[in-house]
Amino acid sequence: MNYQGQLIFATGNQNKVKEVAALLPDTIHVGSLDDINCTKDLPENQDTLEGNALEKARYVYDNHKANCFSEDTGLEVFELNGEPGVYSARYAGPEKDNNKNIDLLLKKLEGSTDRRARFRTVIALIIDGKEYTFEGIVNGTIRKERSGSGGFGYDPIFQPEGQEVTFAEMPMQQKAEMSHRGRAVKKLLAFFE
Ligand code: IMP
Repeated sequence: MNYQGQLIFATGNQNKVKEVAALLPDTIHVGSLDDINCTKDLPENQDTLEGNALEKARYVYDNHKANCFSEDTGLEVFELNGEPGVYSARYAGPEKDNNKNIDLLLKKLEGSTDRRARFRTVIALIIDGKEYTFEGIVNGTIRKERSGSGGFGYDPIFQPEGQEVTFAEMPMQQKAEMSHRGRAVKKLLAFFE
């Protein structure tokens, strides 16, 4: 699809806006919710990543008449049957505290030898009322302790496959290129090319 102009990234997380804007071509201007004066918390009431991503994008499209995309991400741990998954942000409680989420996950995996996990991102795009979804996955393992100070969320304990370091130990651009979100965004890019 040939698209130029503004595309709102329906997220309140500025880290994500920066990561994604670094990957999209200059002809697409990635705007944030601030740019359209959307100050409300976006609804996320579904029990799948796909459902939540679509719900957020529909909210922005319907209320602000802006072409937009949204994403939802979850960390899926094999040993825990896919937990925390769609509940990754609220794993340790409604306050969405990254540190507490990591502590809880490390506790649940204490003594576990299977530490395989994956990040999965679903992007929902709405252009002129038409809906599209794109998925990105990165496999890896959960470290026993935190390492690194970059990134956000579960980055200090997630080591992507084929790497010796966690996402939190990588420069932003390196993480952006190999991450779940990076992979989903590449599919989004391919769609626009
Ligand atoms: P959401 O998609 O912003 O709702 O994120 C769900 C949860 O996954 C939150 O706890 C985020 O901190 C975490 N998360 C999302 N993306 C990443 C990432 O790239 N690295 C580490 N944690 C992430």
